[in-house]
Amino acid sequence: MTLAGKTAVVTGSNSGIGLGIVQEMARAGADVVLNSFTDTKDDHKLAEDIAKEFGVTARYIAADMSKSDQCRMLIEEAGACDILVNNAGIQHVAPVEDFPTEKWDAIIAINMSSAFHTTAAALPMMRKSGWGRVVNIASAHGLRASPYKSAYVTAKHGVIGLTKTIALETAGQGITCNAVCPGYVLTPIVEKQLPDQMKTHKMDRETVMREVILAKQPSKQFATIAQIAGITVFLCGPSADQITGTTISADGGWTAS
Ligand code: NAD
Repeated sequence: MTLAGKTAVVTGSNSGIGLGIVQEMARAGADVVLNSFTDTKDDHKLAEDIAKEFGVTARYIAADMSKSDQCRMLIEEAGACDILVNNAGIQHVAPVEDFPTEKWDAIIAINMSSAFHTTAAALPMMRKSGWGRVVNIASAHGLRASPYKSAYVTAKHGVIGLTKTIALETAGQGITCNAVCPGYVLTPIVEKQLPDQMKTHKMDRETVMREVILAKQPSKQFATIAQIAGITVFLCGPSADQITGTTISADGGWTAS
């Protein structure tokens, strides 16, 4: 399968799953646009390295996905967007009555509303060329809840609702919209939760990962960045032409029960 001639914009792609997706898109021949809210030399170097390694055009565009105008500006500045991967996301864990309002607002904006704004900006380009792929990186938490993650669970459920709506609005137009729902993947967003969990549960790192983090994941194995990136690229290939408005879980059996 080749994505040569396509441009893929991946939000939140200077680390973790997003970076893995960008690399897999470039390996498949797509030109890529990386993004995060920072604008450092290292951010731009990531794009340079991908361009060199895969022989594609790669650019880094700084845009804050918590701001509606910057979400839309990202797509405008990209100039082309055949493949849009809404991946940017943050997490905060607290009981609902203690959940800081600014954290709620940020999670809803970055994890959910950004996908609305980028998709709204990208669809006219996709309709013009008669081909487009929107892949939203949701979560097992888009299908199941966990305590203390009210904003994250709400945002990810919302993204799946958006996915289904966009699929209906674009059906038959050469455009598909799907959500990938990973269980736990060992990336910075999960690494950041480990020290607190080790303290709370008085457990070492390995035990916290197995007993706490992977408690709901029957396989007791993390999904990998490469697996999530592979699923995302698959959704952009011809075998997935009729897959739209649905979710693909990679959660070691979490949502089977
Ligand atoms: P990560 O922290 O490595 O990546 C998050 C990315 O989002 C980073 O590139 C970060 O710079 C970017 N980002 C954060 N705030 C932003 C903003 N305001 N504007 C633009 N970019 C911003 O974490 P990850 O695990 O790679 O997460 C990627 C996506 O996968 C998220 O949507 C997350 O919810 C989802 N996910 C992760 C897991 C997991 O276990 N790691 C499981 C299910 C879903």
